[in-house]
Amino acid sequence: MNEAESPNSPESHQYEVTDLLARARARIPGGVNSPVRSFNAVGGDPFFVARGEGAYLIDTNGNRYIDYVQSWGASILGHAHPAIVEAVQRAAADGTSFGASTEREVLLAEAICACVPSVEMVRLVSSGTEAAMTAVRLARGATGREKIVKFSGCYHGHLDALLVAAGSGVATLGLPGSLGVTAGAVADTIVTPYNDIEELGMVFDQYGDSIAAVLVEPIAANMGLVPADPAFLESIRKRCDAHGSLLVLDEVITGFRVGPAGAQGILGLRPDLSIFGKVVGGGLPLAAIGGSQAIMDQLAPNGGVYQAGTLSGNPLATAAGLAALDLLGESAYAALTDTATVLVEGLRTVIGDAGLSVQVPRVQTLAGLFFSADPVTDYEAAQAVDHERYAAFFRGMLRRGVYIAPSGYETLFPSLMHGGNEIEATLAAAGETAREIADEIS
Ligand SMILES: *Cc1c(COP(=O)(O)O)cnc(C)c1O
Repeated sequence: MNEAESPNSPESHQYEVTDLLARARARIPGGVNSPVRSFNAVGGDPFFVARGEGAYLIDTNGNRYIDYVQSWGASILGHAHPAIVEAVQRAAADGTSFGASTEREVLLAEAICACVPSVEMVRLVSSGTEAAMTAVRLARGATGREKIVKFSGCYHGHLDALLVAAGSGVATLGLPGSLGVTAGAVADTIVTPYNDIEELGMVFDQYGDSIAAVLVEPIAANMGLVPADPAFLESIRKRCDAHGSLLVLDEVITGFRVGPAGAQGILGLRPDLSIFGKVVGGGLPLAAIGGSQAIMDQLAPNGGVYQAGTLSGNPLATAAGLAALDLLGESAYAALTDTATVLVEGLRTVIGDAGLSVQVPRVQTLAGLFFSADPVTDYEAAQAVDHERYAAFFRGMLRRGVYIAPSGYETLFPSLMHGGNEIEATLAAAGETAREIADEIS
């Protein structure tokens, strides 16, 4: 690649999107480096981002979109926030990776522990998947047990042991949810429905003393947005305590997004292990696993659970993470909660006024969108909503300059840069799109 073709140069914007897409599809499977970017769930061709600017994405054809994906929630400060850009630039000037310790790793570990009371020690890794993989191995190593429990519709990254198809209402021993995942890799994974206390009780009655860990998203945000019933989370905690199993809270989305202590801070829940990603890396590849000293010290080199990473605690990523956490005080969360509230109430109104059945749940700073007459409380219900209508809504919004997640199984992530104008424009687009859809079906 020569100078003129660098991603930031104006020349690179002159490709027709279709050309770039054809080239991408020739050299990258599906043209994307992560499947949901493909638009397969909503139809149409994905755009290529030229740059981001606060609440907006600008594509390689010069179109501007109000962005509610925000790197799947990682960019809580909006794109190209000056504090993040400066922190990364300064860090880069001192070297991008050493494979040896740096001060910022200590500062970020201290900052995470200071925010999240259940976390006494952390290890930094590079992705949420890696954090979940480490959590599973650590829980098994620490308990000497093999089984893990997950809930249908919860996503914990693409590690084999957790890529398990949802059971349909009844607790099932895992069946692989992807080709290439062996039956052996998921033989010790138990899948049970989200928000179902009774089924969880049956799982523990049957397997309790061989369960190493229960992994759960405290606010499920990968089957659309589905809040957990507090009694459900409480019953997980109680069952884990009764059987000596570890509760692993997956705060990869919720951590540093719903409040400084994540969902556990809001719910008053004390997990044994927590995993973080997305926001904690300030938009760079960084994630973390944390918990009590007694458990975390079982990781190598102090303990016998091996875990390692060439780029772990990367200097650019720790710089971005520290800069992000520095800007995320209580007032930021209050402001973002207000933004999410106005967005959610507005969407409910304008889509409802068009005559479409819609559920627009909100939990703190997170928003969801289901075309459904009834609230969604588990994966089965999330699968039953009108995903075709979501796809039509997505396409209508995109044409009007608003980018929501290209799948009905995702969440809306307003950022701190989404101001009154952006919300107003979003609601205007949503009203027009909803009326257009209503006209088509009548
Ligand atoms: C995104 C996500 C992960 C995986 O993180 P990656 O960085 O994409 O590997 C894990 N858990 C939850 C809840 C997530 O939303």
